[in-house]
Amino acid sequence: MFKIKVKQAIESIDKVQANQWIEIDSPLFKKAEYQWDSDKILKSIPLINSHDHLVGNWYPKSGTNAPYINSHLWVEDNKVSASFLERNKIWTNSGNFDLLEANAPLLVKLGAFKNLFSGASVVQDHGVLQAQEYYDMFPIEVLRDYAQCHSITLGNWWGGDSPEEEMRKSKGKMPFIIHLAEGLDDETKKEFALLQKADLLQENTLIIHGISLTRSELDAVRKANASICWCPDSNYYLIGQTLDIISCLEKGVNIVLGTDSTMTGSINLLEEIRFAKKKFPEISAKQLYQMVTVNGYRALYLNGADLLNPQKNLLLLTNKKEDAFDNILYQEIDDIQLMVQRGVPLYGDISFMEYLNVDENDYYFFKTGNKEKFVVGHPEQIIDKIDSILGYHKSLPYIPF
Ligand SMILES: [Zn+2]
Repeated sequence: MFKIKVKQAIESIDKVQANQWIEIDSPLFKKAEYQWDSDKILKSIPLINSHDHLVGNWYPKSGTNAPYINSHLWVEDNKVSASFLERNKIWTNSGNFDLLEANAPLLVKLGAFKNLFSGASVVQDHGVLQAQEYYDMFPIEVLRDYAQCHSITLGNWWGGDSPEEEMRKSKGKMPFIIHLAEGLDDETKKEFALLQKADLLQENTLIIHGISLTRSELDAVRKANASICWCPDSNYYLIGQTLDIISCLEKGVNIVLGTDSTMTGSINLLEEIRFAKKKFPEISAKQLYQMVTVNGYRALYLNGADLLNPQKNLLLLTNKKEDAFDNILYQEIDDIQLMVQRGVPLYGDISFMEYLNVDENDYYFFKTGNKEKFVVGHPEQIIDKIDSILGYHKSLPYIPF
């Protein structure tokens, strides 16, 4: 066992323990005790980003006429925006949404690293279900088992079955994910009633956005035990308004947090958490932490033991605040000290390297600020390939080197 002393350990939402020795059970870690600067370490489970479009993590935000009365107008406007056109130099969607085609893997891997560098080792990539080898190519867990529809109004224009068929195939054992009520106009406001009418409001329904949902509609969501993914930065940018989050919390709706892609949303999950807190100071850090951890595990049906074993899956952050949960508001990319998924060290401080049984060729080493880090895989090669295609250096704010 590899043992680390930490200042605080968030064992669960109701249990925080001070000055703990924690253990990592993995052949990739040496048998050792590590006590380096233990008063600065906070232990958490890894974070979950419940809504992203990995292929869309270009920068800056796209769309020239934001805010819009509904997101469907952005879908059109996006097609002529400078950011989208620049991204298309790397990969243009032929219309069949095959993300293993041509240079699409470069883009989706970038999106995965966006999540990894912000402590999210699980992400939901909302789009057409891809071949299994797609999900195998990422260093983090990109949710494999889900049913989906783009939206009630546009249907599954990007691929997949009808929403009813998708729901049927889910057998209630995986999330059914759908953009809903992402706007303020009448068409958008009708979407919830249509969802209910089609019998698509079930316990496994994960509504993305829900901006125009009324209080009585939120009651129905609660009653169905369904979940809503809140993406505040994307909502304010695209629509100028967001979900009635305060009512959701009062009613006890299962709320999870998502970044959406960087073409509409925040730079990464840590920034999304800060954005939510800035807009709604009355929401506690603990509630936000719940949204990016336990609520996410529930909404995404992440009940596989390999992702829940705390000796194989953990995130060590920098302990900056007395209240364990408050720390989540102050984390930057370089504050992540160690991130482990299924026993595999993904990202962390270089000082951990001497305790690992790994092939250093499988990792990239870099300096960010005055800290030296390692990360699994070779994101620098992705950036190099993108630069060579563009003919200039593309800087992306979620990549820390
Ligand atoms: Zn989306």
